[in-house]
Amino acid sequence: MISRIDLRGDALPEGGALRGLLPRAEFDVEAALAKVRPICEDVRHRGTAALIEYAAEFDGVTLDRVRVPAEALTRALDDLDPAVRAGLEESIRRARVVHRAQRRTEHTTQVVPGGKVTEKWVPVGRVGLYAPGGRAVYPSSVIMNVVPAQEAGVGSIALASPPQKEFGGLPHPTILAACALLGVDEVYAAGGAQAVAMFAYGTTGPDGCPPADMVTGPGNIWVTAAKRYFAGRIGIDTEAGPTEIAVLADATADPVHVAADLISQAEHDPLAAAVLVTDSAELADAVEKELVPQTAATKHVEERIAPALSGKQSAIVLVDGVEEGLRVVDAYGAEHLEIQTADAAAVAARVRNAGAIFVGPYAPVSLGDYCAGSNHVLPTGGCACHSSGLSVQSFLRGIHIVDYTRDALADVAHHVVTLAEAEDLPAHGAAVKARFGWKLPSVPAS
Ligand code: NAD
Repeated sequence: MISRIDLRGDALPEGGALRGLLPRAEFDVEAALAKVRPICEDVRHRGTAALIEYAAEFDGVTLDRVRVPAEALTRALDDLDPAVRAGLEESIRRARVVHRAQRRTEHTTQVVPGGKVTEKWVPVGRVGLYAPGGRAVYPSSVIMNVVPAQEAGVGSIALASPPQKEFGGLPHPTILAACALLGVDEVYAAGGAQAVAMFAYGTTGPDGCPPADMVTGPGNIWVTAAKRYFAGRIGIDTEAGPTEIAVLADATADPVHVAADLISQAEHDPLAAAVLVTDSAELADAVEKELVPQTAATKHVEERIAPALSGKQSAIVLVDGVEEGLRVVDAYGAEHLEIQTADAAAVAARVRNAGAIFVGPYAPVSLGDYCAGSNHVLPTGGCACHSSGLSVQSFLRGIHIVDYTRDALADVAHHVVTLAEAEDLPAHGAAVKARFGWKLPSVPAS
C-alpha cells in the first residue's frame, strides 16, 4: 500500500539532491493559478453575483445571500452538541494561553546618547480568515485562525467557509457555532479561490464584504493558488495546503501508534502525505503490516486514506541511523514532524525544518490539530524551510520609530554622507548637510 525508499548504505547527498529523493505530492499551484486567476477577476468585477454562481458550480448550492445572518450563528450555538461545545471551549482556552504568550511588547534601544530606535507592534486593521469545508469541515481551523488574530488585537475579523448543501447553503453549523463562541459575527458562505478574492477585492451591496488587509488560513489547491495570486497585494500567511506528517522513529517506537498517526493525516485529503523515516527495518515492516487492519477499520478509506497512503507523496524511508534520519526530515521540512525515538526531546531539539514538532509517544499530531494549544495552520510543501505557521506575529507589523537629537545626528553625519556618495545618491547626503548649514560637522575624535 505504501511505497519504500531505501537510503541505507551510501552517504546521503546534500540539500536539494536529498530533497529530490524524498516523496512529495504533485501539487502544482502554478498550474492551478491559471484556473484561479479568472475566478478572482470575476469576483472583482461582479462581486456577490459571481460568488453565488461559483457556489452553484463548485459547492452545488443555490444561495440567495452570502453573508450569514446573525440568527444562524446564534441558532448553531444553541443547537450545538454539549460535548462538542466543551471540546471547542477547551481548544479555545488552550490556544488562547499559548497565543497570548506570543504578544510582543514595544521595545526601545538606545543606540547612542540622543539616538534611539523603538520598535512598536501594530495589528493588521482587517483580516479575512478561511476555514476549509470541502471534503471535511474544520471548526478547529476557525479557532486556529481567530484566536491569534484576536490576541494580536486585530480590530475587524471576517471569516469565510464553503456553503454546505445539506445545511441550506450555510457553512457547516459547527463552523458557525465556533464563530459564535469566539464572538465572530461577520461570516460568509464562500469557499475556494472566490472566498479569497472576496476578501482581497471586497464586494459591495447589502450583502457585501469590505476588503481585508490580509487573508489567512488553510485550504486545498484552489485556496492556496488564490493566496499565491494575491500575495504581495494583501498580506498572506504561509501556504498551508494538503496536510503532511513525517514520523522520525527508531526501534523503540510503537508501530501501532506510528501507523495510527500516519492514517490520521492521510484522512484529510487524497493529496495528504504520510512519511515514516526510520533506521529500523523491523519497525518499517511492523508499521506497514499495522496500516492494513487500522485502515480497514476506519472511515474515508476509498476517497482519501488509501489514495493518500499509496500516492507518490507518501513512503517509508529507510536510513542508516537517527543521525541520517534527522538529515532527511530537515531536507523534507514537514508540516508536522513526530519524533518517536529514544531520547525524543534531544532529537527534537536538533530539528531545524518543520512546521510543528511533536515529541515522544504522547504527543500525536491529532493533539496539535485540536487541543495542544499550538496552532495547526502550518506550512506545507517544504515551506517549513522558510516560513512559520500562524501565530500572533502573523497579524502584527513591527514599525521602527527613529528618534535622534541634533547632536546624535551630527556625530554620524559624515558616515551617512560617505555611504550616500558610495551609492551615488548625493541627494541623500544633502538631506543631512542641509541640517547643518550645508557644512558637515567635524568628525568626532574617536
Ligand atoms: P476547502 O475549503 O479548502 O476547498 C473547498 C472549496 O474548493 C470549494 O468550496 C470550492 O469552492 C473549491 N473547489 C472545489 N473544486 C474546485 C474546482 N475544480 N475548481 C475550483 N475550485 C474548486 O476544503 P477541502 O477541499 O476539504 O481542503 C481542505 C484542505 O486543507 C485539505 O487539503 C487539508 O489537508 C488542508 N488543511 C491544511 C492545514 C494546514 O495547516 N496546512 C490545516 C487544515 C486543513
